[in-house]
Amino acid sequence: MSDRNILVINCGSSSIKFALVHEYEPTFRLQGLAERLGSPEAVLQWQVGPEKQIKDMPGADHQAALSFILPLAQKAAGGHLDGIGHRVVHGGEHFTSAGIVNDEVLEGIRASAQLAPLHNPANLIGIEAAIELFPGLPQVAVFDTAFHQSMPDYAYHYAVPEFLYKEHGVRRYGFHGTSHRYVSKRAAEMTGLPVEDSCWLSAHLGNGSSTCAIVNGESRDTSMGMTPLEGLVMGTRSGDVDPNLHSYLASTLGWSLDQIDNMLNRDSGLKGLSGLSNDMRTIYEAKKAGHQGATLAFNVFCYRLAKSLAGMACALPRLDGLIFTGGIGENSAAVRAQTVEFLKLFNIKLDAEANARCVCGVAGEIQAAGSPRVMVVPTNEERQIALDTLALLDD
Ligand code: AMP
Repeated sequence: MSDRNILVINCGSSSIKFALVHEYEPTFRLQGLAERLGSPEAVLQWQVGPEKQIKDMPGADHQAALSFILPLAQKAAGGHLDGIGHRVVHGGEHFTSAGIVNDEVLEGIRASAQLAPLHNPANLIGIEAAIELFPGLPQVAVFDTAFHQSMPDYAYHYAVPEFLYKEHGVRRYGFHGTSHRYVSKRAAEMTGLPVEDSCWLSAHLGNGSSTCAIVNGESRDTSMGMTPLEGLVMGTRSGDVDPNLHSYLASTLGWSLDQIDNMLNRDSGLKGLSGLSNDMRTIYEAKKAGHQGATLAFNVFCYRLAKSLAGMACALPRLDGLIFTGGIGENSAAVRAQTVEFLKLFNIKLDAEANARCVCGVAGEIQAAGSPRVMVVPTNEERQIALDTLALLDD
């Protein structure tokens, strides 16, 4: 079989990101983003080759946007759309891998919705709209959490009363699984190591950030937990804080749970520390210009990342390489340099020239001679979702 095309759909609460992935072509034939869905400012942007287009769709909801996107995808695929791969954020303990969408899978996504109330319902809307518009096309759900279902129990349990896990699903699940899996497989390919005998630390650094320890193609630990708030400092998310912060803020400032939740998810991280921006480009430029808040934000980001990587090393029998990916990991030589500087005991030395060269999608090894391996590997979650979809179509 050859020449297959998969439409990859990532539905957020008010957005749809999409890409048409051809199984052998490295670039997408079609990609785009519908934003502000459900509002008068709803807008759809897409790109076929170099050609960019934009369409105002006032009041359009997910269904309306998808009924425009799906024919676009059919056309870009030359009439041969073979399946749709849906990104689903939370699969709970129901899914250890991707699944062809059927009643059971839909039920599993619904059952996990209380763990991701902002994401899973939006993912479901996308799946249901796509089924209605293209009933004959195979649809596959690919879960952010599935890759981490291989974590051992001592890595995923919180030390809280066991009934909270057994009856309410309170445990660490981890996210960004599609990205960590993709880059660790790519790193193995690039170095000639077999996936099933390789050990990696991966740092996915974007608006959301997480680390992962990957042994022989399986996640053994990751920094995000029951929700994507745990772990690293992110664009607007705090990452780890003292769990007593909630009761302290409630009793001293009278803050409600909603206010605290909002502060930790939307007003913290790089944005909260710098008072300037959630974007690492802005933070780094301001740091260079001597801005104190930006300097602190940069240093806390890198130190906490180094500390997380050092912790993740507990899950590895050896280290074949440290992988940087995501918008920051792929583009910020300065974050990479500062992070390994904080990881003194790893004895990593970077090759400054190689580190500077690996930006804007350039992959490669960036360590100096004799140092443990450090790699920059651009992630491609859309391709991984398409590969998972194709694999299920082949079954
Ligand atoms: P992502 O969520 O993976 O798309 O990453 C988005 C983030 O990557 C942005 O918010 C920026 O902070 C960061 N980013 C993109 N380009 C650069 C760059 N050249 N230098 C530093 N950070 C960057």
